[in-house]
Amino acid sequence: MREFDYQRAYDVAGAVALLDADPDTRFLGGGTNLVDLMKTGVERPVRLVDIRELPLDRIESTPEGGLRIGATVTNGDLAAHPEVRRRYPALAQAVLAGASGQLRNMATVGGNLLQRTRCGYFTDVSRPCNKRVPGSGCPALTGEHRNHAILGASEHCVAVHPSDMGVALAAFDAVVHFETADGAGELPLADFYLPVGDTPHRETALPPGALITGVTLPPAPVAAHSRYRKVRERASYAFAIGSLAAALDIRDGVVREARLAFGAVASRPWRAAAAERVLTGAPAGAETYATAADAELAAARPLPDNGYKVDLIRNLVVTVLTELAEETAR
Ligand SMILES: Cc1cc2nc3c(=O)[nH]c(=O)nc-3n(C[C@H](O)[C@H](O)[C@H](O)COP(=O)(O)OP(=O)(O)OC[C@H]3O[C@@H](n4cnc5c(N)ncnc54)[C@H](O)[C@@H]3O)c2cc1C
Ligand code: SF4
Repeated sequence: MREFDYQRAYDVAGAVALLDADPDTRFLGGGTNLVDLMKTGVERPVRLVDIRELPLDRIESTPEGGLRIGATVTNGDLAAHPEVRRRYPALAQAVLAGASGQLRNMATVGGNLLQRTRCGYFTDVSRPCNKRVPGSGCPALTGEHRNHAILGASEHCVAVHPSDMGVALAAFDAVVHFETADGAGELPLADFYLPVGDTPHRETALPPGALITGVTLPPAPVAAHSRYRKVRERASYAFAIGSLAAALDIRDGVVREARLAFGAVASRPWRAAAAERVLTGAPAGAETYATAADAELAAARPLPDNGYKVDLIRNLVVTVLTELAEETAR
């Protein structure tokens, strides 16, 4: 690992000023992704600004009835918070489905959103990779891509975003708040991650030097009846090969409201808006759920070795919505 400077920030303005002064500086959250990438030479910052002492470690109710989650709240504290578990259970389940207890106690909300892809070519600096070195190529297209994207990818990059937490945040219309030297701003999660296109190295719409200060979850009564289901190659301590955050409100046998987001299928948590449109107002039942999944997955463009993800996600949608519907009927 290269030598680097380390500095601790105690207020938001100070942290932003430290990064603004030097583009080779990175914020350090829990370090569970950044430090790994520094060890392999993917990231080579000259200075780290430790943000864990910033006053951004609270989870509070908003006047509108949602939740505001500070950027340095650990994944462990987020999953354990009683209001998160009560109002947005799929979010708590998603966080608990990720990593390990030790990692969740270090990892932060801001860092989780900005964690990088686990594509093996990205993390191996001896290989070309458009995301790491723009214009160098994408060996995953013809190489190892069993866990790569089926939705929203391009011929320049087919990597998936690895976050579980982000999938639940996408389903619940989260808004990301940030601070720059020019002031505060916010981005709906739907606009936070950029389309891949021919610039896979540009991953988010955050302005340069932005510090994520928190995430707001708007009030969503449907979210109280939600679930996160993750499929992985080992029972624990593994990234998803496909996942689903779902919420369902059924009245008199008709779907009143549904929220769906897929994980490990695209460069970002994938909000399944086409599926939600099919579900809303339709009779509850497996046939409707399958039709909804198919509506979303019509846009899937699998690679030679990851077509299984289409069936996997379709089955997840039918299974999880059926479970949620049965619970509603009880
Ligand atoms: C073995 C292992 C297994 C894992 N399994 C899973 C899994 O199953 N599911 C899953 O979702 N994740 C998994 N993870 C990833 C883990 O969730 C992330 O590493 C973690 O969430 C990153 O948070 P952090 O605070 O440690 O980020 P850091 O490593 O500190 O930072 C990550 C990036 O975000 C930037 N950053 C951090 N905070 C801010 C901020 N507030 N504003 C602006 N930039 C910021 C940093 O500069 C860096 O670029 C796993 C990780 C490991 C090591
Ligand atoms: S899929 Fe993306 S991250 Fe992986 S090698 Fe191709 S360009 Fe790099």
